[in-house]
Amino acid sequence: MDQANGLEHDFERVAAWIAQYFAHPERFRVFPDVAPGEVAAQLPEHAPRTGEPFERILADFDRIIAPASTHWNHPRFFAYFATSAAPVAVLAEALAATLDVKAMLWRTSPAATELEEVVLRWLGRLIGVPDDWTGIIYDTASIAGFTALAAARDRIDPAIRDRGMQGAPLRVYVTDHTHSHVEKAAIALGIGRANVVRVACDRRFAMIPHQLAACIESDLRAGLRPMCVVATAGTTSTTSVDPLEPIARITQRFGVWLHVDAAYAGIAAIVPEFHDLLAGLDAADSLVVNPHKWLFVPMDLSALYIKDEAQLRRAFSLVPEYLATSDAGVRNYMDYGLQLGRRFRALKLWFVLRHFGVDGIVERLRAHIALAQEFASWVEADPDWEVLAPHPFSVVCFRHRPASIAPADLEAHNARILAAVNDSGEAFLSHTKLDGVYALRAAIGNLRTTRDDVQALWRALKQRATA
Ligand code: PLP
Repeated sequence: MDQANGLEHDFERVAAWIAQYFAHPERFRVFPDVAPGEVAAQLPEHAPRTGEPFERILADFDRIIAPASTHWNHPRFFAYFATSAAPVAVLAEALAATLDVKAMLWRTSPAATELEEVVLRWLGRLIGVPDDWTGIIYDTASIAGFTALAAARDRIDPAIRDRGMQGAPLRVYVTDHTHSHVEKAAIALGIGRANVVRVACDRRFAMIPHQLAACIESDLRAGLRPMCVVATAGTTSTTSVDPLEPIARITQRFGVWLHVDAAYAGIAAIVPEFHDLLAGLDAADSLVVNPHKWLFVPMDLSALYIKDEAQLRRAFSLVPEYLATSDAGVRNYMDYGLQLGRRFRALKLWFVLRHFGVDGIVERLRAHIALAQEFASWVEADPDWEVLAPHPFSVVCFRHRPASIAPADLEAHNARILAAVNDSGEAFLSHTKLDGVYALRAAIGNLRTTRDDVQALWRALKQRATA
């Protein structure tokens, strides 16, 4: 009983810490003021021989770990894809960790398995995934994408599973703006980076369909085997959208797998103005969308939707005796990928969807998009700055380009602005390059970001640009 009381007290203290954190994440610098090695230097060389009291562990978390973290929950986090954890999802994570199920077989947790089916159907319906597709949760879009490519490889050559890669090279089609995980998947699947073909983009950084068709035709003439096209709805650098419908017509014509990477922007399809974002998906084979990017679900939860789930099972299913079951009419998620034991990730998505409701989510996504559009309008209105790409969602690529700075110096100049803003702790940004042009990137996606925060970012940028 004493032990239970002690435990309750520890839980209460952590709960209080979390509640205070979410009340004021801005209490911390968004980007910590630490030098490399500084955290490790504060920690002992060896694990303690005997157990330590919880208050000492928590005190060290508060003193060493929290202040040296980059605070993705900070309202002035504008880097990469800005994300944030809804507190309700953090509660779900605590409950999932408490149950500590390994959701690999239906019988290793019926609730985790069936909630995953239900909650991914909910999400799929919200973003326009056909009802007969199957949803599966992975940790990240990188692994979900790898898994989709493995299914595509199995479809084109089922024998690879047993005898390994042989015959003419398999080809994967992307653009310069496709996320790098596709190339990594090609490495891991034995396809090879050299067989990842970069299709040309238009001026809006979107794949040009007739160039895709030309690449596939040329490969076929050369005796190569076109395997998969990856089209992106919301590319990482600019959030450009590859034209799905014409691309899908081409992949259908040639019998090539079409994987749609909507890791970031797929969530926007929940908003009525973006309902058509994934139009053409029914002619594709798989889709990935990341609730851990723009749906307020803490890292990690990536949803893969697949048209032919049997194809994915064929690619991965391998059941050793100790995992064999006779359960009928159930899904065993271990059959759909590399991983065996799986976290109970569906719980946090269920909590988030119920907590906000669809209307609440739409309202927040709209607010992020509106803030990004307003930020872009400030950049556009200032003759010393320029917007560098279309910005359909909540990310803006831009740079400082005053007449006084020579074009050759613009990259170093903008990199200095980025470093100065980030070092100041006032806001946190990242960058990219667009056709060789260095671009600053402002991503808005945090639940707590307000117009004041975006104005503060703009002020900080202008100050640093002229300092
Ligand atoms: N695809 C796109 C379009 C992305 O922007 C990203 C990450 O930003 C990924 C995939 C990889 O996501 P994850 O970190 O979930 O692997």
